[in-house]
Amino acid sequence: MTRNSLPIRLGTNSRALGLLCIVALTAGTARAQTQVEPETALRMLNAQQQQFEKGVVQVADNVFTAVGFHGANTSMIVGTDGVIIIDTLFGPASATDAAEAFRQYSDKPVKAILYTHSHGDHIGGASAFVGDQQPDIYATERFGSAEGVNKAVDPIKLARNVRQFGRKLSPAESTNRGVAPAGTKDNDRGEGFLPPTVTVPNDGLKTTIAGVEIEIHISPGETDDAMFIWLPKEKVLFAGDNFYSSFPNLYAIRGTAYRDVLDWSESVGKMAALKPHAVVPGHTMPIKGQQAATTALKDYSEAIRSVYDQTVRGINAGKGPDQLAHEVKLPEHLKDKPYLIQFYGSVPHAVRAIYSGLLGWYDGNPTTLNPLEPKLKAQKMSELAGGTQKLTEQMQSALTKQDYQWALELADHVKWLDDADRKLARKVKIEALRGLAAREYNAPNRNYYLSYANELESGQLSELWF
Ligand SMILES: [Zn+2]
Repeated sequence: MTRNSLPIRLGTNSRALGLLCIVALTAGTARAQTQVEPETALRMLNAQQQQFEKGVVQVADNVFTAVGFHGANTSMIVGTDGVIIIDTLFGPASATDAAEAFRQYSDKPVKAILYTHSHGDHIGGASAFVGDQQPDIYATERFGSAEGVNKAVDPIKLARNVRQFGRKLSPAESTNRGVAPAGTKDNDRGEGFLPPTVTVPNDGLKTTIAGVEIEIHISPGETDDAMFIWLPKEKVLFAGDNFYSSFPNLYAIRGTAYRDVLDWSESVGKMAALKPHAVVPGHTMPIKGQQAATTALKDYSEAIRSVYDQTVRGINAGKGPDQLAHEVKLPEHLKDKPYLIQFYGSVPHAVRAIYSGLLGWYDGNPTTLNPLEPKLKAQKMSELAGGTQKLTEQMQSALTKQDYQWALELADHVKWLDDADRKLARKVKIEALRGLAAREYNAPNRNYYLSYANELESGQLSELWF
């Protein structure tokens, strides 16, 4: 398919995907929430792929969204004497590709660019859309604040980012990134970024650009600099990354500051209250039709709120994060909705994030105030097992029984023991990680397990890291 002949698609068949997932999920109840049989995990991830298949979707008469040109979406609203671009992808290469595709539908000049938030996959390609024009560029007052919070730990965040997105996985190991395709070209990150020129005030903004009425609403969630865009006439809503087809990434395993879960739920609730006729997510396919779009947003807000409320109730009942991460579940009537399957975000990880976000690291149990150092604990585990040889046998036996999580936990003890076969422990850990990865339909978990296994195998990680 050439760039100029990209078809207009009419939206996603999300119902078919939902039914598939309902069938698939029942198989994995005995395991972690996002683990099922390997063939099922793969089938689910392959089905999710249709959410970011490359093409331009016509959302309304004058609204077009380019999906799958990079990790995120970019949209064009056609006005009387110009167009408005919402989000600009990752860098000039992917943005040029999308801009060319948009030109099939309008070659009017770009009058404005709106950044829904400051994450790199939404802002890096602006220059490719504008040519030599100078459009107004809108963003919130807090634009960029999310990136600056924990700069001190950038080196490890980068290493973890590579794992979460599976950036170094082979084509055979790659599936996707949950709400984005794998294998995006990332070497021009941010090279087309143009800084904002118009600050959206904290109580929002109503304006008309190129004859199009536009409302901008402040909407903290994935980042605290987020905004959503509402076209009152067309009744189209651009949600940024506070909504996409997956349970939301309330915590990112690459490492993030606390994302305010309550704010996130409220922001999506405000979107639902507008009863949009179409919602354009920051990633994945637009959802069209008032009933479908409004229900999706309402459900999404409720799902986030439910995870938050269950966690808070558990915390106040004196439960710790390890227990709550296993207990908190999506409500029965929401868990199989196609836009709430845990392809990207994970309920157990969200629970842990809410716990530490509200209370910090301490779980309230005096045993964990000063736990044994790992090496001493490993020695005591070895004694308990009847010696290092016996502990090693237990580790191997767990792997043979495909009790992968237990194999990992035992390998993490064995690695500390001076009289242990550490090479064997490393090998067991690699195999257990690959076993877990095969069962995961949560893409960040799957990618992280596989990437870490490869790093262990290549000797990239020191003894202490395995
Ligand atoms: Zn994004």
